[in-house]
Amino acid sequence: MSPDERLRELAVRHAAFAWLDSQRAAGRETFSQKDTTNLTLAGESIRLMPTQQGIWKPGQLAAALAIRTVYRPDGSDRPYDDAVGTDGFYRYKMRGDDPHHFQNRALRTAMHERLPLIWWLGVQGGGYSALYPIYLVSEERTQLQFVVDIDTVPQPDIIWPSTELELDPSYRQQLTKLRLHQRPFRAAVLRAYRTSCAVCSFRHSDLLDAAHIQEDSSGGRPVVTNGLTLCKMHHAAYDRRILGITPTYEVRINAKVLEEVDGPMLRHGIQEFHGKRLMVLPDRRTDRPDRSLLEERFQTFLNAS
Ligand SMILES: [Zn+2]
Repeated sequence: MSPDERLRELAVRHAAFAWLDSQRAAGRETFSQKDTTNLTLAGESIRLMPTQQGIWKPGQLAAALAIRTVYRPDGSDRPYDDAVGTDGFYRYKMRGDDPHHFQNRALRTAMHERLPLIWWLGVQGGGYSALYPIYLVSEERTQLQFVVDIDTVPQPDIIWPSTELELDPSYRQQLTKLRLHQRPFRAAVLRAYRTSCAVCSFRHSDLLDAAHIQEDSSGGRPVVTNGLTLCKMHHAAYDRRILGITPTYEVRINAKVLEEVDGPMLRHGIQEFHGKRLMVLPDRRTDRPDRSLLEERFQTFLNAS
């Protein structure tokens, strides 16, 4: 690849990432095929997502621009787990069984030229979330797979796991799995709650998290019924057992905290929600929090009181 060609590859990619950043800043987490078609990026009319296969190389480019993994419901909602090695890198399968298929060659070009790609991760309920930039760092040709690094740039809106993980010898592997699940989980949960905190209905997406009801460290699944959209304040309060949610969708505040005297944040932001029903729930009943998971989590709140 000539320096000019490489420059064009990078210009398109950086324009694509800037476009995705602006979408995310506007609160969009989930994308359809249509959303990512006919974009004008760095002077090119371009599509960002493959239509059929998992690998996407636009006609104007020499290297692959994106890969895609579809969402698989029912018991296989952790599709990334098997493919993360103990080294913490994900293995992406080549197309078919010919390493020289043009799509596999397009991936190889991206690897050799160290070009960043977008990874479209299927979201429960439809659409895709974008993880970017990712890099292909090597290939294992006999196993027909590429080795993917998702760690080069921190993803600010993905929740970092608790420090307990650092004691685990396969820390990197765990972290990669969590981060791969977290991106589409966040997209699905924020969509179900119409980008609003379940407790207070706050709507600024930068300050919203997709919280697990059964925590990931306890085997919680990355599905909407195990999720709640919570603002940063209420997420932290939920995790610290200052705030509890009953199986009938009511908020409880820790008795000691209810008696504290402080400023308006404590009074209006925490204490006044005691006894109130959740302000926001998913429209679809099948997306609402699993009552048995809420019950289990609520017990840990009561035990901490
Ligand atoms: Zn809130």
